[in-house]
Amino acid sequence: MGQTLTEKILDDHLVEGDLQTGEEIGIEIDQVLTQDTTGTMVWLQFEAMGLDEVQTEIAAQYCDHQTYQFDFKNTDDHRFLRSAAGTYGAHFSRPGNGICHNVHRENFAAPGKTLLGSDSHTPTPGGLGELAIGAGGIDVTVAMGGAPYYIEMPEVVNVRLEGELPDWATAKDVILELLRRLTVKGGVGKILEYTGPGVETLTAPERMTITNMGTELGATSSIFPTDEQTEDYLERVGRGGEYVPLQPDDDAEYDDEIVVDLSDLEPLIAEPSMPDKVVPVSEVAGTDVDQVIVGSCTNGAYEDVLPAAKMLEGREVNKKTEMIVAPGSKQASELLARQGWVAEMMAAGVNFSEATCGACIGIGHVPASDSVSVRTFNRNFEGRSGIEDDNVYLCSPEVAAAAALKGEIVDPRDLSDELGDLEAPGFELAEEYDASKADLITPDEAVDDELVKGPNIGEVPLRDGIDEDIAGEVLLKMDDNITTDHIIPATQDILMYRSNIDKLSEFTLSRVDETFADRAAEADGGVLLAGENYGQGSSREHAAMCPMHLGVEAVLAQSFARIHRANLFNFGIVPLVIDEDAYDGIDQGDEVEIVEDVESGVSEGRSEFTVTVNGDEEYTATLDASQRERDILAAGGKLSWTKAQAEEGG
Ligand code: SF4
Repeated sequence: MGQTLTEKILDDHLVEGDLQTGEEIGIEIDQVLTQDTTGTMVWLQFEAMGLDEVQTEIAAQYCDHQTYQFDFKNTDDHRFLRSAAGTYGAHFSRPGNGICHNVHRENFAAPGKTLLGSDSHTPTPGGLGELAIGAGGIDVTVAMGGAPYYIEMPEVVNVRLEGELPDWATAKDVILELLRRLTVKGGVGKILEYTGPGVETLTAPERMTITNMGTELGATSSIFPTDEQTEDYLERVGRGGEYVPLQPDDDAEYDDEIVVDLSDLEPLIAEPSMPDKVVPVSEVAGTDVDQVIVGSCTNGAYEDVLPAAKMLEGREVNKKTEMIVAPGSKQASELLARQGWVAEMMAAGVNFSEATCGACIGIGHVPASDSVSVRTFNRNFEGRSGIEDDNVYLCSPEVAAAAALKGEIVDPRDLSDELGDLEAPGFELAEEYDASKADLITPDEAVDDELVKGPNIGEVPLRDGIDEDIAGEVLLKMDDNITTDHIIPATQDILMYRSNIDKLSEFTLSRVDETFADRAAEADGGVLLAGENYGQGSSREHAAMCPMHLGVEAVLAQSFARIHRANLFNFGIVPLVIDEDAYDGIDQGDEVEIVEDVESGVSEGRSEFTVTVNGDEEYTATLDASQRERDILAAGGKLSWTKAQAEEGG
């Protein structure tokens, strides 16, 4: 039987296990990336593990999420990250150089390689045929030290693209259509592999918009085959020599197939406040728009901004709307500036921003209360923009520019008459990506050779084993689809403590219940209760680290998002799956006990545990985990486990 492209790359990197769906496999990692919100802990863990040099082909540290240096805390973090990259042999991308996924694809991503990143949108370079997976920071630390990355072999789903995009329909609409059909849980446990005649009609940057947002489906990764489009892109970024032709075998068998006819697509938009609330733009046309932002790792490339710039040329942003353009990388900004497009956009009334994640996580450009913001981003979870009563819509740059011109949501096809000769701008690659690399410091150019820790750099929290019995209060009962933004918000006032877990923990779950951290500290721990898809969203390991620091011992949920589930193991919190009856039967404030030798049960492979509620009712909770995951959990987390292994190994 032939192999899928995913299987071919995994096979090339396989160090343990068989490529059977659901089996744990260990793979060699060629490249790692980390960013500033997750990177400080990555390097502190690297130091705590006693590692002394990066072992992967490429390791890259980006500063993108929090680039504004409001006070010493962010600057302390950036200085520490530069010193860690220099000391241990990683590339360092200075604040303002761009978003990790954009800078990585421009400089390092390569077909056939594996990439592990401590950011959930790491799969972006799947559009170049790289198998890229998002993970918790400590998994990245371990991979960077040269150890394999372990993962359950996902299902491989064939997303067959037919036809060709019509005018005004874009790559963003391809992934929005998949979100409309599959929802934010539709890709869980899956790698989406794109095939079919529609593939060759999409350029590499368009493919990367699609693979970037596969994360919103919950997919482990998304990948395209390589072809002339891939080679063309690599040549333009000056890395033509890294092209490798990669295709699945003709007789490859997939676990499932989804067909998308590109010719049927039209401009789509995700309504507030979930990326899968997708409708045709025409359905919400007429909604007044206060703010428009073009940018982010999904649509912040030169090629993404250019169509919006063309639509704005010679026109004016509506007086009642503010428009911000924040390219994904300084390279994109520089190219747009050299070609005069920045001036055109500014003349149209655009507020041009530095290359940063910024507004995507509520840092800068926070919308007004209860206003409408139309963005080209990938996520619109409630409150992520920095204000709780936000109304964030997600769409293509073309739809965003149309909204900015009209001052209300409008299908750009209906704007033509009003604005005269408004033609579909189409998708155009840069002639060549000849931009400065001044903000990328290679290991050879490193300016530090020892760690620099300012006062904002704290300690790595450690849990030493798990308790024999779990007994405590249900500290919080939560609904479905709780995001890592709910658990640890990423807004400026909170994010600046990412290197200081003691302080950061005070904000744990504050968006769900402001009293949570105090109650957890007072109760000296307890358990959390949640519905489906607990922990969806970012790879933020602080969302497990802070509950651990507050003494949370277990999370009972109907299901877990992949990266967060791994993070719970990595920080010694027992992730137990319960059914709907149990979820309905247990309430906040109930006392729960799991008293059947939890520690030995975890270590010895028991999958079912009895949860006694208020000394009376009993429910079954399931621990579905590999032996390696059980060992990590029993040790109290990955750091304790890795240290113990190192000691055993002498
Ligand atoms: Fe940055 Fe937003 Fe992309 Fe995350 S999703 S990497 S915060 S732009």
